[in-house]
Amino acid sequence: MSPVWTWRLDEGSCTGCGICRDVCPEEAIRQTRDMGLPEPVPGACTGCGSCVAQCPFDAIMIRPVTRRDAS
Ligand code: SF4
Ligand code: SF4
Repeated sequence: MSPVWTWRLDEGSCTGCGICRDVCPEEAIRQTRDMGLPEPVPGACTGCGSCVAQCPFDAIMIRPVTRRDAS
């Protein structure tokens, strides 16, 4: 069974540019306002890495979900 993935931000580096949201093929990244910090859509990330590759500021990171995250 493949791991479930999630992502997190370095909020100090993120500019809210929205590129990660636009490149995510799973709609796992949402922004509730223009230039606001992106938020995760629970359970949607497949760990494809596109957001990490495309972020101009190295502000987004992915990792497998652990049991601790789920509790
Ligand atoms: S691409 Fe990077 S800087 Fe832009 S909103 Fe996403 S995480 Fe923030
Ligand atoms: S790793 Fe892929 S699926 Fe997950 S948030 Fe980034 S672009 Fe979307």
